Amino acid sequence: MKISEILERKRTISFEFFPPKKVENEETLFRTVKVLKKYKPDFVSITYGAGGSTKDKTVEWTLRMKNQYGLNPMMHLTCIASSKESIKKIAETLNGEGVENILALRGDLPEGFSRDKLEFKYAYQLVEFLKSHWGFSIGVAGYPEGHPESSSLEKDIEYLKMKIDAGGDFIITQLFFDNGKFFDFLDRIEKANIKAPVIAGIMPILSLKQVKRFVDMCGATIPESLVKSLEGKSKEDSYKIGVDYAIKQCSELLTSGVKGLHFYTLNKYNATEDIIKALSLG
Ligand code: FAD
Repeated sequence: MKISEILERKRTISFEFFPPKKVENEETLFRTVKVLKKYKPDFVSITYGAGGSTKDKTVEWTLRMKNQYGLNPMMHLTCIASSKESIKKIAETLNGEGVENILALRGDLPEGFSRDKLEFKYAYQLVEFLKSHWGFSIGVAGYPEGHPESSSLEKDIEYLKMKIDAGGDFIITQLFFDNGKFFDFLDRIEKANIKAPVIAGIMPILSLKQVKRFVDMCGATIPESLVKSLEGKSKEDSYKIGVDYAIKQCSELLTSGVKGLHFYTLNKYNATEDIIKALSLG
């Protein structure tokens, strides 16, 4: 089912997974999917390795979500290191298998890759390409705190608008921990006359080390009070602090009328399940 159509009727709940690199890790994902399926997600998404490094596995797991688990999948697809021909091949496969949703991304240029002959430079070009050939419902990435490469928040919104004008149907945000940044982002979106619904990306914190690694990668900030509360804590205490924080964060977002919550599960179910249960979602 098209995510854009679901969003017209209701607030969405969704889970993000990554394709396991090793066969021995597949069992973890199987278990996670089995547990989280109980909460009736509106869709699940499968990430695409940098530069398409997990291309085949991403397609395989996207199809598994649909055919083996009966879930509504969205495949992440990056374009920066891809040719139109290779994107076409993937899109034809997904279309032929009845997958209706794609998260259209630029991705990051792999090391040693020349910028000279890129067929896609930005995500909006992938959105345009997909929209002009197939009928997918297309999501695009949004950055409440700005994309790390962008010169200003205003420019970032300008480029986000290009993705929506090119045919993007909805926006899924980068993880964030400060709802204030998300609400400011929504204000900027409204001012730019972007009408697409915005789904909030939520990452339950499992440890200070883990969250710092992700934040370094994507440029999100962690509120000082949260950092302080996690410092020197045991694994168990960090888990509890992280889950309690996410419950409060999601609860405030739900009260504000957020269009959807997208959980970055990292292929683990415990924290996401605890949050979903506490909020009586699903
Ligand atoms: P774009 O929208 O193209 O933007 C990239 C940069 O270029 C930004 O700084 C933007 O401001 C600028 N820009 C955009 N258009 C123009 C223009 N016309 N002229 C000049 N500058 C412009 N990465 C993966 O590899 N695999 C994944 O599965 C994956 N999933 C993700 C899921 C979500 C929800 C999010 C938020 C990110 C995900 N990413 C993933 C990361 C993403 O690929 C990177 O953040 C990447 O650097 C940017 O991708 P984009 O689609 O936002 O690019």
